[in-house]
Amino acid sequence: MNQHKKLSEHRAISGEIITAIRKVVGMYSTNLHEPVFEGNEWHYLKDCLDSGFVSSAGQYVEKFEQKIAEFTGSKYAIALVNGTSALHLAMIVGGVKSGDEVIMPSLTFVATANAVSYTGAIPHFVDVNQLDLGIDAVKLRQYLNEITVIKNGNCLNRKTGRIIRALLPMHVFGHPCNILELLAIADEFHLTVIEDAAESLGSFYNEKHTGTFGKIGIISFNGNKTITTGGGGVILTDDREIAYQAKYLSTTAKQPHAFSYMHTDIGFNYRMPNLNAALGCAQLEKLPYFLNSKRRLFNLYFDAFFKVENVLLFQEPIHCRSNYWLQTLLLDEELVPYHEDIIISCINSGINVRPVWTPLHLLPIFADSPAASLPVTINLAKRLINIPSSAGIS
Ligand SMILES: *Cc1c(COP(=O)(O)O)cnc(C)c1O
Repeated sequence: MNQHKKLSEHRAISGEIITAIRKVVGMYSTNLHEPVFEGNEWHYLKDCLDSGFVSSAGQYVEKFEQKIAEFTGSKYAIALVNGTSALHLAMIVGGVKSGDEVIMPSLTFVATANAVSYTGAIPHFVDVNQLDLGIDAVKLRQYLNEITVIKNGNCLNRKTGRIIRALLPMHVFGHPCNILELLAIADEFHLTVIEDAAESLGSFYNEKHTGTFGKIGIISFNGNKTITTGGGGVILTDDREIAYQAKYLSTTAKQPHAFSYMHTDIGFNYRMPNLNAALGCAQLEKLPYFLNSKRRLFNLYFDAFFKVENVLLFQEPIHCRSNYWLQTLLLDEELVPYHEDIIISCINSGINVRPVWTPLHLLPIFADSPAASLPVTINLAKRLINIPSSAGIS
């Protein structure tokens, strides 16, 4: 393409995008995502300090777990230090063993694959679809039919000889993936479903909360998520034994006893501290307000971007209610050459937009992991841009 034409076209489209974002954000902070502390945060935190219960004992941890279980409709919720540790523990209590493979999207945050790697298991990357940004169910079934055989009730990868133990779908930016279809495939191929719902607190598929479809689900409460506990995560499950094991292993696998220290497994120190849970309790009270704000923000952006050609504001999939954690632009094919230029122009004008993660199969650390062909993942990585999404904006 003619360099001058390219330059002027990118300036024009970048200018339109910056104008549209400015129109919505106004003078509010243009960071990608900021927490909002306008409720009982100070009050509950002071209560922790006054009572002396700041660490892994204290009433806020259980209260937080109860409220999360209530809100998500999960039977059990186990609060942990962060979403990554929740995923790690979910792998262990979900039966993922060293040398197993775990099917996951390449288009996800690195923590999804890291958690699998901690157990000695191997991430196996599959492609996503453009409708919901999650694993493409049609392609997945076809792929598993091609490369696997069921033997002794296990799904064997015929190429590597390893057992494919689990399917790990992720709900990207809070948009629920095609979870029902993925559950059916997992059933067919004897895979345990562990859902990475780190980003999707407040997102529902058919009125059922994300993270409650699989055997186990996890949510993150990192500082940039919809609500925050500073750092924090939770395991969701309806399985009593799994819930027990998760809590047990997260508290050093110590046998309940009045004074003696008896540990039956190599456990973890993954329990959420009371201070973090106190913050979480206050944040949860504001969750309905945050979700409304985020939906309103989507509507404001929708109007602002309505007339911007070749740029689509990503909308919740059908049958779903998304939490709209991160608002997302999807550029048309023809804007792919300008993707990076647009991001740089926005950042230079003080608006903190971000590209989607580098697809994990392209990271050197996962270069040896098995992967299906990933054309949509590679294409989307050049077309997605996250724009300022704080609940406080609207
Ligand atoms: C945030 C996130 C995690 C990890 O959660 P932390 O609390 O930051 O450890 C895992 N997976 C996805 C998809 C995430 O977005």
